[in-house]
Amino acid sequence: MKLYEFQGKEIFKKYGIPIQSGFLIRKSDEVKNLTPPLVLKSQVLVGGRGKAGGIKIWDGKTTASQILGELFSLKIKGEKVRAVLALEKVDILREIYISITFNRGKSTPVIIVGTSGGMDIEKSAQSDKDNIYFIEIDPFIGILDYQIRSIAKKVQVKDVTGFRKIIKSMYQIFKDYDASLIEINPLAVTPLGLIAIDSKVDLDDHASFRHQVLFQKLEEEKKSLKGKEDSIDPESTDDTITFVPLSGDIGVISDGAGTGLLTLDLISDFGGRVASFCELGGITNSEIMLKALRLVKNQSSLKSILVVLIGGFNRMDDMAEGIIQFKNELKDDIPIFIRMCGTKEDVGKQLMKDENIPVYNSLIDAAEAAVKEARGN
Ligand code: GDP
Ligand code: MN
Repeated sequence: MKLYEFQGKEIFKKYGIPIQSGFLIRKSDEVKNLTPPLVLKSQVLVGGRGKAGGIKIWDGKTTASQILGELFSLKIKGEKVRAVLALEKVDILREIYISITFNRGKSTPVIIVGTSGGMDIEKSAQSDKDNIYFIEIDPFIGILDYQIRSIAKKVQVKDVTGFRKIIKSMYQIFKDYDASLIEINPLAVTPLGLIAIDSKVDLDDHASFRHQVLFQKLEEEKKSLKGKEDSIDPESTDDTITFVPLSGDIGVISDGAGTGLLTLDLISDFGGRVASFCELGGITNSEIMLKALRLVKNQSSLKSILVVLIGGFNRMDDMAEGIIQFKNELKDDIPIFIRMCGTKEDVGKQLMKDENIPVYNSLIDAAEAAVKEARGN
């Protein structure tokens, strides 16, 4: 689960990572008594807010509500801005990139640091490889002091004590929260010391059962920000659903990227054209299935829907439940074709049959049937 900047920073604060003081402003909030200069930051889950105009500095020359109005009317990479984090502006002398994530090849956590932090880190990672360092952490030993000193030297940080505290806290959060990414970009060198200007925290959904209260709180916060209409907004980004609108007439949903791509090829082989591709991603449930179907349904020109499920973690009875719920709310009856296998497939298939929804064992047969329907033969 990706956290908003303000959610990540709440955790940072708890672990003693220095952040600017500030507060969250919602669209409906009335703002009064703000003192400039403030940095007003759109809270969205997609990256690159700065470049998309989602971060503005309010210097007091215009009114704050004017700038807030501009931010709240933005859609950043399809995501509406529903909250703005207002932060005390700090003077930045230099920006550093730092993150902790997994080196999946070696199965170890890794610290990544660079001297060219800020908004162009992706670019500099390609062009300026020498200035990005990877420091592996032995999970049984943890971060050793010499590693911190060597990183500090590489990125020319003088305040080693402050830097050590930040790195150790980042690693502690990484472990305590079962995170897959803790990123501070930029970590700013300021006249007041090191400050985490941004936060990016990604929690491992597979470990959510170990943090049930937290996940519930974060989900609720997200829901309260997102609003109802987002669930049927084809452009809205979601944690788990990847939605790619295309120009054909067959809506494709799959619970895995690989099968999904194979399905697209098969549809093309049978002479069909895809209206949209929707990947459910990771562990999913009936609600996500329903949401995906609604997204796909939103495409005009839709003639058939093909759902391809190879459940490992995913339970086919859950998936069937979502599909049936969708069928019940569908008025103009777009035919749905299902390929279903894996966990609880017997129950899932029976549920489909009870509802007269065609269900196939073979992906090829299902794809062919969806194409035939779309082509009207
Ligand atoms: P992102 O674009 O989504 O990564 O958002 P960030 O929070 O990283 O902010 C983008 C950029 O805005 C930073 O790299 C800084 O250069 C600038 N910025 C953000 N907050 C401040 C601030 O308090 N003071 C100054 N001087 N610049 C800031
Ligand atoms: Mn950033």
